[in-house]
Amino acid sequence: MNLKNLLDNSTDTSLSGQKWHMLRQAIVKRLLSSGNATIAELGSELQSSVPTVTKAVNELLIEGYVVDMGKITNSGGRRPSLYSINPTCAYFLGVNVNRASMSIGLQNIKNEFVSIELDSSFVLENTAESLQELCNLINSFIEDSAVEKRLIVGVCINLSGRINSMEGFSYNYFFSENRPLTEIIADQLGLPVRLENDTRAMTFGEYREGIVDGEQNIIFLNYSWGVAIGMITDGKLYYGKSGYSGEFGHSTIFNNEIMCQCGKLGCLETEISGWSLVNQFKNALKEGKQSKVVLEDNSHTLQHHAIISGAINLEDSLCIELVTNQSEKMGRYLSIILNIFNPELLVIGGDFSQLGDYALLPIQSALKKHSLGLVNRDVKLKKSSLGLRAGVIGACCVVKEKMLSQLIIN
Ligand SMILES: [Zn+2]
Repeated sequence: MNLKNLLDNSTDTSLSGQKWHMLRQAIVKRLLSSGNATIAELGSELQSSVPTVTKAVNELLIEGYVVDMGKITNSGGRRPSLYSINPTCAYFLGVNVNRASMSIGLQNIKNEFVSIELDSSFVLENTAESLQELCNLINSFIEDSAVEKRLIVGVCINLSGRINSMEGFSYNYFFSENRPLTEIIADQLGLPVRLENDTRAMTFGEYREGIVDGEQNIIFLNYSWGVAIGMITDGKLYYGKSGYSGEFGHSTIFNNEIMCQCGKLGCLETEISGWSLVNQFKNALKEGKQSKVVLEDNSHTLQHHAIISGAINLEDSLCIELVTNQSEKMGRYLSIILNIFNPELLVIGGDFSQLGDYALLPIQSALKKHSLGLVNRDVKLKKSSLGLRAGVIGACCVVKEKMLSQLIIN
């Protein structure tokens, strides 16, 4: 049993062989996308006769792709069996790489985690050693899990910055002109690899498994060390031509002469982001303001976490003042996005979302003040429900979605 075999083209090239293969794929896709079904339901939905579907389901049962969930309860008559996809027939590995940590999780085909490690120690540096360490950690995680590698359909790795998912290149980290990064990592892991921008994967995670409740036009804000947005339009992730969409944080908005991490002056991130929060905090202390928070002097620690925690857990006045000021400004510039996109849902995610009302209320108030009334009336504002797990859940969902798109039905 290996779902990869079912995803591949049929080895039987006759017309009847091809049709049979496609029916088996269609049954698996139906059970995956819409849940359990009886033979009669499958026959009706796939426009195939009951004997034909019964034969195909029996094959899939023997091969382990499908399981019999027992008879359904109904009023009288012969009770039919209910069939489900076998949760252990395929697995997806998601990896979310941050500047100072990584999260990794292995989900079965029903999106249930069989193993997950959040915020493991890893320092992202743009070096061959750092890439090797990343591959070693992923391989160790797979070895420590109870899942056979051959059952893992694919891996999705989220990185920040410019990612071309179609071609497999990352331009901010581990760039090589000669080979896509996906190929380099796939060689190390022995598994198919996909790269995804971290914010885009978080957006997809919220859409599939998080706070999104049927909405199809969504803006997701990743308000963390850096700032970016992800977009779902008509139920699909928006990439742009090459996958570089969503770089909201690098919009040159301010005339402040502050150098951004991207090299430009006055980007949104220079005043609204985790890293600018750290600078604002240090400047405030120099000006004589007081705080209970002491920042760790360690370049491998994201110091904005301490300030966010200071606001939440210590109710530290300076921390609260700085995060609410930033969030109010964030709302002002998000109103531009709202006016352009007219979304039905705006999800506030990333590290700042942990602040709850300290971030959400100033954002909401500024949105009301600065966006067009009709546009603002359409949009619901919600906090991410996946929090720290958004990236790793999103990565697993991206691999699964890609696999489903390989299951051809016609
Ligand atoms: Zn920038």
